[in-house]
Amino acid sequence: MSDDQMKMPKFSEIEYKRPSVEQFRECAMSTRLKLMAARDADVVENSIMTFQREMSAFDTAFTICMIRHDLDTADSFWNEEMDFFDENYPVISDLSAGVYAALLHSEIRDELEERFGAMIFRKTQNQRDIVSSEVLEDLAEESSLENDYSQILSEADIVFKGRHQTLSTMTPYLESTDREVRKKAHKAVSDYYAGQKEKFDEIYDNMVRIRTKIAKKLGFSDFVELGYKRMERYDYNPQKVKEFRDNVVKYIVPITSEIRRLQKKRLDLDKLFYYDLPCLFVNGNPKPIIPKEEYFSVGSEMFGKMFDKRPSFFQVLGEHDFMDLFSRQNKATGGYCASLLDYGIPYIMMNANRTADDVATMVHESGHAYAALRSIDSSQFIECLSPTLEACEIHSTAMEYLTYPYMEMFFGEQADSYRQQHMTLAILFLPYGCLVDEFQHVVYGNPDMTPQERHTAWRELEKKYQPDIDYDGDPFFEPGGAWMKKEHIFTSPFYYIDYCLAQVCALQIWSISRKNKKKAMTIYEHLCAAGGTKTLIDLVESAGLESPFSLDVMKKLAYQVCDYLDL
Ligand code: ZN
Repeated sequence: MSDDQMKMPKFSEIEYKRPSVEQFRECAMSTRLKLMAARDADVVENSIMTFQREMSAFDTAFTICMIRHDLDTADSFWNEEMDFFDENYPVISDLSAGVYAALLHSEIRDELEERFGAMIFRKTQNQRDIVSSEVLEDLAEESSLENDYSQILSEADIVFKGRHQTLSTMTPYLESTDREVRKKAHKAVSDYYAGQKEKFDEIYDNMVRIRTKIAKKLGFSDFVELGYKRMERYDYNPQKVKEFRDNVVKYIVPITSEIRRLQKKRLDLDKLFYYDLPCLFVNGNPKPIIPKEEYFSVGSEMFGKMFDKRPSFFQVLGEHDFMDLFSRQNKATGGYCASLLDYGIPYIMMNANRTADDVATMVHESGHAYAALRSIDSSQFIECLSPTLEACEIHSTAMEYLTYPYMEMFFGEQADSYRQQHMTLAILFLPYGCLVDEFQHVVYGNPDMTPQERHTAWRELEKKYQPDIDYDGDPFFEPGGAWMKKEHIFTSPFYYIDYCLAQVCALQIWSISRKNKKKAMTIYEHLCAAGGTKTLIDLVESAGLESPFSLDVMKKLAYQVCDYLDL
């Protein structure tokens, strides 16, 4: 990157101008006409690339606006600009779908596929399968239900320790090393959800109904089929995912029981109740030993060592203001990495607050950022620059493992505890992710279930994936309420298993890195550089990893994790 550094702008100095919908419309219309008439692949390529530039400009303006809005949510200018994009992005998507439809029906399609690769055609066909004018109203109803749910959650007000708390500010109390505190905190959260149960049941019931209706209108037998299409699962199906979950039950669930047994011993408790689970260590979770002002310089140094390149990509991004790491008033919550397509530069936004999570999040988002930089020339189509979501999560999750050897830089003598905790959480997550996934298969496979039946189904599945959970008779969780805590179940159906699939691929990279760091890095580079040109299994196998669906892989990883965690 250092060659380009001279040309690289500072984020703060990039000029923002609201893009013109009219100009976009004109470009889309004329491209579409050209594509319909063209018999010459060069002509098609030229016009589609002109259109790509228009799309890239629109998306870049949107990304700049979103980031600046998130950095200061109180700024009315960016709020208004966000309203503009909320209103107009669907128009832009619709126009671009029209352009790609013309590509799909081109008389010289075979020649074009040869030239552009199959991926853009697969994506275009997929997009056409999941939307049609007949379902636009239903889609609007679906997203309004999602907004209702998010709105209620964002207004959550829990009075705890005499103070008003949100669900996220409750987290430290839920993990407290003081058992009484965490017990009361969990009770407060349980009470909150019990109070919302009826509303959430009604919203979810309507979501299941409308999603099933959309699926049927589009010609699918149920929403499971449509859900897989929405997630762009080109080379695996529900049967494969079921096999994956079965592998987790067989090889990972027993490990989690052992983890819980040791946790109980460490905490010196007779019985581990659900409110004890988030507290893994007697002395609490490890914290970084450096002040947060040093995260950037230490991060720069770490990535420099790791990739043997100075300044590191991380340093260059930071020196050009392409990151905002710390939590403060009027900054949006959460963390993400978003790319400015016109510049080919990713932006890292997160909310560090001096917990172990800061480092994991910084490294995770840096994985996304590194992949974005590496894949910049992987395709001439912006749609094919990054892969499907599970594959994107491999970039970020693998980075968490590849940075293990450098964690002394952040945690000093506690680095081992950090690594133990990180690995433990990863292993505990796998069965939970599968639980969330199977629950959704049950729900959408049986859309006429009553809310009560859904709660019962969840509780039954919990016993299979989390056999050690004991709710101590909690009136909300015991009858099967815990699924309501998971936003993805409401707002991103079928997304959750992606994290599990990515985890199993990332763990393979970790396992290779223990014996051969160079080989692990080569695989990682290959994965990142391929961008979105391949489907999941293709991508993983071409990089030299095994399919996450393989029973052998799960078995091997289970043994290695036990060895690593001394189980
Ligand atoms: Zn991620």
